Formats: sequence, structure tokens, C-alpha cells
Amino acid sequence: MPKINPYEVEGKIDYNKIVEEFGATLIDDNLLRKIKHLHPLLRRHYFFAHRDFDKVLHYHSQGNKFALVSGRGPSANMHLAHLLLYNFNKYIQDEFGAFVFVPFSDDEKFMFKQELDFETVQKFAYENALDMAAIGFDPKKTEFLFDLKHMNQDLYNLSVKCAKRITLSTVKSAFGFSEQNNIGSTFYPAMQAAHILYPTVKYGLPSLVTVGIDQDVFIKVTRDVAGAFKLPKPAALLSRFMKDLGGGTKMSASKAETTIYTTDSDAEIKAKIMRAFTGGRETVAEQRKLGANPDVCSVYEYLTLFFLNNDFEVENLRQECKTGKILCGECKERLVCHIQKFLTDHKKKREKAKQTLHLYTKTD
Ligand code: SF4
Repeated sequence: MPKINPYEVEGKIDYNKIVEEFGATLIDDNLLRKIKHLHPLLRRHYFFAHRDFDKVLHYHSQGNKFALVSGRGPSANMHLAHLLLYNFNKYIQDEFGAFVFVPFSDDEKFMFKQELDFETVQKFAYENALDMAAIGFDPKKTEFLFDLKHMNQDLYNLSVKCAKRITLSTVKSAFGFSEQNNIGSTFYPAMQAAHILYPTVKYGLPSLVTVGIDQDVFIKVTRDVAGAFKLPKPAALLSRFMKDLGGGTKMSASKAETTIYTTDSDAEIKAKIMRAFTGGRETVAEQRKLGANPDVCSVYEYLTLFFLNNDFEVENLRQECKTGKILCGECKERLVCHIQKFLTDHKKKREKAKQTLHLYTKTD
């Protein structure tokens, strides 16, 4: 039985079934046709479901602006799946002129993770912010919000108003909290709602949230709060998960062996990719004869989500894999080269971001 909630993802996920259970809507070709330059992550259905994204597109087509909210819980260094999401956010900024808000919920990580102390979560928030700044968001249209270091008074006031609208029983049933949870964790959904509604309340911009499907419950709770405040309900683009290198359902920053961090060295990248789970056969002879299975392969997932922009290349790799024309070792070498090159470049930008980070932080 798969488990899927903001704090736990396990098992084989049937995404169509989940969308139905959660009450979201699958992204179809009609919706995609309304976008001028289609990002590969939309074309390849990494973002596969939405809430009111059609309304956002219509609103934008009338010449209106909207905000993109995409938060980060800084409990560790950023990994490649995080970068994938924020690169996509940059595309939304470029394609639609969206204002981007990135809340760093270091307070949440402090309250939920017993092993993390106050200083460590703030250190990770800073390190993660460097990765975001390295992506090159337009500083005039981007705001980073740090809950612990520079709590924004408007944001805190909004979280208090949201807290008054969310009952303990809603929080318990929506997030599965029990008597053992500390009281800080039961307040956190109010802060999350405030993060999402902040651009609407402060700047009059309706919010679009890009987030993994496991976080959808936060969107639902916030939409209820928005309704009570008579504000536009936040829209969402919901993504599936990126496999970890061990073949697990979701890449997790806490599983170092099967995750590529933005700070990994070339040697670490190579060692992790060479151990990665693939859809290959036991022997070369068998693979040449029977072909392999790209659908379960973590290497295929990395190559197609990150590095192959051309759909023809993706189809070519798929066919070569299925017919045994290519072997796993060749794919792994190819992926190692791509990741090392990509992260070498990213690390340089990250270093420069130390000088520009302040441009994204508007303190009162
Ligand atoms: Fe994955 Fe490549 Fe092996 Fe196919 S041949 S299973 S794509 S590593």
C-alpha cells in the first residue's frame, strides 16, 4: 500500500489514482496548447496535474501579473531534483514575467527534525539560498523569505490570521499529526498558508505554487483559508517524484548514497552514478538479446529530465535501451559527464551568488 503525505512517500505510486483521490486535475494537451514555449518538464509530464492553472493562464492572457511561490525546507544541502524544480521556476518567470517568492521554512525543519538545531537549519537555509541565487532569477522580480533570520512582520501577521482560521482537527486529519507532535508543528500549516498567500495580500498578485504532489494537502488547506478571507484561491502545478539512484520512489536529501547534492565532487558523482539502479539485465549477452527497461531506470530518469532537451534524443535512447543496442555502462558514463559539467558550472555561479544574495532579501 503506497504512502504519500508531506512527511512520507513510500511504495509504487499510481499518479492517476492519486489525482482523483486528492481532487486535483490532470494536465492535458488542451491546457498545454495554451502555452507558447513549452518546457520539457511539461511536455514530458513531470508536472502532470494542477489546480486552476487554466485560470492562471487565462488571467495572464488578459495582461495580468501573477506570483509564483515555491518554498524550500532547508534540512540538508540541495540535490539535483531541487535544482530541477527551481530551474523550472526560472522558466515560469521568463515565460510569464511572474514574480517569484521563495520562502525558506527553517522554522518548520527545526520543529520537525529532532536532530537539527537552530543554527544548523539557518546554515542550510543560507546554503540553499546560494543554490537558488545561482539559478539567476531576476532580483527585481524575486524575493527570498527567511522565517528565522529575517522574519518579515507582514508575513508573521498573516500567519497569525491564518492560524485563527485553521482548526486543530483540520491539521490532525490533513497532516496525520498526533498527540506526540510538538505544538510548533501544529502551527506550521498556518505559516505555510501565509507563505502562499503573502504575494496576494501584500502585492495583490494571485499565487501559483509549484510543488510535489505529496505537498498538495498544504495547497488544499490554504485554498480553504483563502476562501474564508475572500481572496483568490492559490493555483498549483503538481509534479511527480524524481526517483533516487537506488530506484526508490523519491529522491531524498537525507539519503546521501542515492542522492546527488549540488556540492558533490566529481569523484562522488562518479561513484554514485556507477552504483545507480538501472533497468539492465544480469549479463551483457542477455541485454543485447532481450533489451532493458528504461521505465524503472534511475539513469534514464536523470538523462531525460535534465539533459536531453530534444524529444527525438529521448525517443532514440528509449529505443536503444529496449532493443539492447546500448548498455548500462555507456549510459552511466554519459550521465557522469553531463552531471560533472553541469555542477562545475553551477558551483561557479553559486560562488558568485555570495555577492548577490542580498539582492533577493528585502528586510523591513
Ligand atoms: Fe537505463 Fe541505459 Fe541501462 Fe537502459 S541501457 S536500463 S536507459 S542505463
